[in-house]
Amino acid sequence: MPLNEAVLAGLENIVGKGNVAADAAARYVYGSDASIHHHTPDAVVRPGCTDEVSRIVGLCDKELVPLTTRGAGTGLSGQAVPVKGGIVLEMMRMNRVLSVRVEDLYCEVEPGVVFAGLNRALEPHGYWWPPAPGSGDVCTIGGMIANSASGIRTVKYGATRDLVLGLEVVLADGTVIETGNRGLKNASGYQLEKLFVGSEGTLGIITKARLRIVPRPKSSGSLIASFPSLEAAGGAISQVYRNRLVPSALEIMDRNCIQAVKRKFGTPLPDAEALIIIEMDGDRRVVEEDLKAAGEICRAAGAGDIDYATDPAKVAMIWESRKQVLPSMASFGGKGPISVADDLGMPVSKVPEVVRTFGEIARRNGLIIGAYGHAGEGNIHGKVLIDVKSARDWEAARRATDEIYEAVLKAGGTVSAEHGIGITRARLFRLERGASIEVMRRIKKALDPKGILNPGKMFDAPDDMLSENRYILGECD
Ligand SMILES: Cc1cc2nc3c(=O)[nH]c(=O)nc-3n(C[C@H](O)[C@H](O)[C@H](O)COP(=O)(O)OP(=O)(O)OC[C@H]3O[C@@H](n4cnc5c(N)ncnc54)[C@H](O)[C@@H]3O)c2cc1C
Repeated sequence: MPLNEAVLAGLENIVGKGNVAADAAARYVYGSDASIHHHTPDAVVRPGCTDEVSRIVGLCDKELVPLTTRGAGTGLSGQAVPVKGGIVLEMMRMNRVLSVRVEDLYCEVEPGVVFAGLNRALEPHGYWWPPAPGSGDVCTIGGMIANSASGIRTVKYGATRDLVLGLEVVLADGTVIETGNRGLKNASGYQLEKLFVGSEGTLGIITKARLRIVPRPKSSGSLIASFPSLEAAGGAISQVYRNRLVPSALEIMDRNCIQAVKRKFGTPLPDAEALIIIEMDGDRRVVEEDLKAAGEICRAAGAGDIDYATDPAKVAMIWESRKQVLPSMASFGGKGPISVADDLGMPVSKVPEVVRTFGEIARRNGLIIGAYGHAGEGNIHGKVLIDVKSARDWEAARRATDEIYEAVLKAGGTVSAEHGIGITRARLFRLERGASIEVMRRIKKALDPKGILNPGKMFDAPDDMLSENRYILGECD
């Protein structure tokens, strides 16, 4: 049901006319994130402070208006897509770094601060906030907390979940609460700040965050090693850990990804079955020693070419080839990638076995699948490539995704290591979490009894991962 005039006027009264949009263009744009889904909201509202958020939520609670919070809209599972209509609450105006307290090892920020912007503010202090998602130039701290985002440095520094000390949250009835404290330790009571991490805007709206900050490493170095098989690459990764080395990044690329990068950018990568890239950071001497040790481990595990780099320009070149994977996949084999099975988590030792099944699944379903990602954390992005206008390809993608998840769950893994559940992964998330889903439902009911916050997501999303699909199907069939 569209918003009535009185509710629109109430919203304009809270945030000012210029911060409410209900025109067709705004409603269309805010109906999508970076996932395959789309659903048009009735209005977009942009609050500027906690008090405005509280009053907006209070109004939505009273009028039973669905409210979907949104940061930068880079989510890959439809988390910010307003499937029940209502309002999209866009948090980008609340974008101040409120304090940097190096002596207390924390900073305090509003949720609309962009990850890269926060790290620019921390740089003069010699500190950083490390989770480093690939979308870090765009995505917001609020979105990162609501998804527990992570990235290539998580293997050493932890995910967002590990680096949140406290939150200010507006609950579904408009009440504002503070969780955590200003110290580094907080032992008693339920860890409410952790409850909101990964909750995808279904339990409350984060309006402030205290984040643990970390000194920037003094130096870093990288190596890139090619392997004749995924198993050999996996063997090297296991040996790195057995030898008590802790890389600051450990990434893998399979043959399809290597070929895609070579074809698209002409990057001189070896014709290998798998590549691993390892970064060590810290004191210069330790970096050099650890990198040498990691190289010897790779060699003993069967690596062919190994390229080392400690000067920043060469290190940047090595990591550029990793960054090129996603844009390269966008035009590989005349198909495009969709985010359906791109966030798999599993024990590190199972990565080669699971990634190998992708080849069989791709062949069986007539698809191309590329695998790359944070092998050091067992977090693999399986990019399924399809013609997005072909209903046949979508059906094949659905079958392949089920098969991929079956392999991942059999290996003791998870359907989402960092990109969230939203709509795309909901059915499989429910399968994976079993009885604990009922506990989550009860928590949701306790904190949001009227079900106004981001309804229709996670445990309430439909079984069909392709529902609310934003692509127009059938034209190529
Ligand atoms: C090219 C690309 C690369 C990516 N790489 C990574 C990666 O390496 N690692 C990774 O983890 N993710 C990655 N992502 C996914 C995405 O960027 C992250 O999930 C990110 O944390 C989303 O932030 P956002 O500000 O865009 O949030 P949105 O997409 O706007 O929202 C995501 C969810 O957070 C909720 N939310 C947003 N703000 C708040 C708030 N203030 N209070 C309560 N709930 C809120 C929304 O309701 C929604 O459920 C990538 C995405 C793209 C497009």
